[in-house]
Amino acid sequence: MRSALAAAGALLASVAFATGGDAASPAHCTAIVVDPGHNARANLATEPIGPGSHARKIKDGGGTRGVVTHTPESVVNLRIALRLRKLLRADGYCVVMTRTREAGVSMGNIARARIANRAHAALFVRIHADGSTSTARHGTSTLYPAFHRGWTSDILPESRVAAMKIQRALVRTLGSRDLGIVRRSDITGFNWSNVPVVLPELGFLTNPREDRLLNSPAYQQRAARGLERGIRAFAPPRG
Ligand SMILES: [Zn+2]
Repeated sequence: MRSALAAAGALLASVAFATGGDAASPAHCTAIVVDPGHNARANLATEPIGPGSHARKIKDGGGTRGVVTHTPESVVNLRIALRLRKLLRADGYCVVMTRTREAGVSMGNIARARIANRAHAALFVRIHADGSTSTARHGTSTLYPAFHRGWTSDILPESRVAAMKIQRALVRTLGSRDLGIVRRSDITGFNWSNVPVVLPELGFLTNPREDRLLNSPAYQQRAARGLERGIRAFAPPRG
């Protein structure tokens, strides 16, 4: 069952790449879906928190912003995601982005998960920066799905392994405070994902020091490098 599905998936992925879903990608390679969190505008429409759920959540509250730089989180996420794309492509991965521009209303989290599912991603990497009411709070954490039968039960073990590897690589590469991996049941984009998924919170934009760092090209490159190292440790590129 699983292998037949996987074969069908590989075929679909090949077709998607061949038809220009992502023109630079060869047909047979490890697919990574990179999801820069949020977008220029929030999306206050709601969507079910998981397949078949009556519980609904806002599609995208819009994220946080720099306490010193005032840069929106969506911009920071995108800059790091574009750097990560470059590193992963050089490694031989097929990279699919959920967005490559800062423009318009955020697409919401079911749509983001569907992009990862369609690509049959080896890993769905959702790039975010954190916010807190305390400007003192700082550090890096990586979120992964909590157990929910029928939603995340199949992707949980691999997602947890990926979260541990990415968290370790990020903290080492950034030299940031290690806030660990965090299990979450309330993330719509996790509950709709059929592929292993992680959500690194790279640092706190509400902390003056981490806001400045996350807005510097050198630190953004280190964040991308840390993500790349974690991704390689979890799912090495094929071919
Ligand atoms: Zn965010």
